[in-house]
Amino acid sequence: MTGLFDCFQRPINYLRISITDRCNQRCIYCMPPEGVLLSPHQDILTYEEIHTIVRAAAELGINKIRLTGGEPLLRSGVSELIKMIARIESVDDISLTTNGILLGQYAAELKSAGLRRVNVSLDTLKQAKFEFITRSDNNLSDVLQGIELARSVGLNPVKLNMVVMAGINDDEITDFAAKTISDDWHVRFIEFMPITSYDGVTSPFISVSDIKKRLEPLGKLEPCPPRVGNGPAKYYCLPGAKGSIGFITPVSEHFCFQCNRLRLTTDGKLRLCLLAEEAIDLKQPLRSGISLAELKKLIEKAVSSKPLRHYLAEGYLPKGQPFSKIGG
Ligand code: SAM
Ligand code: SF4
Repeated sequence: MTGLFDCFQRPINYLRISITDRCNQRCIYCMPPEGVLLSPHQDILTYEEIHTIVRAAAELGINKIRLTGGEPLLRSGVSELIKMIARIESVDDISLTTNGILLGQYAAELKSAGLRRVNVSLDTLKQAKFEFITRSDNNLSDVLQGIELARSVGLNPVKLNMVVMAGINDDEITDFAAKTISDDWHVRFIEFMPITSYDGVTSPFISVSDIKKRLEPLGKLEPCPPRVGNGPAKYYCLPGAKGSIGFITPVSEHFCFQCNRLRLTTDGKLRLCLLAEEAIDLKQPLRSGISLAELKKLIEKAVSSKPLRHYLAEGYLPKGQPFSKIGG
């Protein structure tokens, strides 16, 4: 067998990199209102360090890279990083997850740097609710314009991620689904993960099976293959839709048995699972002059300790770093 495998024989080919822990929003499901403790500047991996880690990982078998955060578009020179990664021969897919506020400003530049596609977090189509969920005075219209611009420059498919929360935005499930017909949107409904406590509703979890019931009035959902990628979402189409509906079930039905990913935190830790504490520091060895061959060995060793699964449904929550540092 060639490529990178963990000790459960899962092929590992996907690295998600949190390039900044800063954010211009404080989404109620992700961060406390006051934000999170930011890493000091000197602890944040430089683009050269990220590039070296991606090179080593790519030589081992990683061929898909996603930049995330925090809000990745807040870090200056992100297009430069994309260009550096795009030059690594075996990397064939570079994508980015953003809240979309700055997407209109950067879409064309990102595309020409080598970004292939983009996912945008969008939880409501109503400005007042947008302000409530993001705890910001940002404009929803900037996100919607960013989405259109990203589509027009060819960052396709633009996938729209909606974290569904009972009593907050579940009344918009059918509005989002209808957009897969009227505007060819690719919408993904994500189950809320109880990783942070926040003001507002006490139990916002709503399962994908409940979400599917809410969609019944719109017609029968037919399974359809993913447009790109082989992530955890299961895809369907409504009758007459050019767009698709994806369901992501981190809580009601974990997809760990097919997990192919690693995560690199802002401060240089390789996390084997979003929801487990195990992490291997790569920053210190890098700064002490580790060779590429030694770095590859370190990554291989880390991969061999990737846990079998997370235990969110059983109520186990990892302590330590927030999603914005790990890259949700
Ligand atoms: N700032 C960017 C954004 O919002 O798209 C990228 C980072 S954000 C941490 C990445 C993703 O994590 C978002 O799409 C959000 O949907 C997801 N996320 C964060 N907290 C979550 C939670 N408690 N439950 C489910 N998804 C969550
Ligand atoms: Fe920021 Fe994204 Fe977290 Fe919202 S989900 S607070 S935009 S990092």
